[in-house]
Amino acid sequence: MSRRTDRVQRKVRIPSSKRKKSNSKKEEKPGEIPCCISSCDGFADKHKGGRSLSQENAIETWGEGGFEVRKNRVRVCKSCYKAWKKDNKDDTSSHY
Ligand SMILES: [Zn+2]
Repeated sequence: MSRRTDRVQRKVRIPSSKRKKSNSKKEEKPGEIPCCISSCDGFADKHKGGRSLSQENAIETWGEGGFEVRKNRVRVCKSCYKAWKKDNKDDTSSHY
């Protein structure tokens, strides 16, 4: 039996500071519900600030055929909702 003298191996240390953070980017949920306004390619998802309007409301702003109706509701994205709101100013809305 031969005696082997094991050398103490140097441990290779990986400095923890070098470890990259996997995702510094904000994770943005992709849109799933397309905006019903035909001239718009936004998303009407709730987390994107989308709203749903009634057909009558949508007709007032975009006219008949200017939008798609899903389940009797017109899903609009945030910016379309803003446009609609602007178009349908009533006395209850406050101006800033
Ligand atoms: Zn839109």
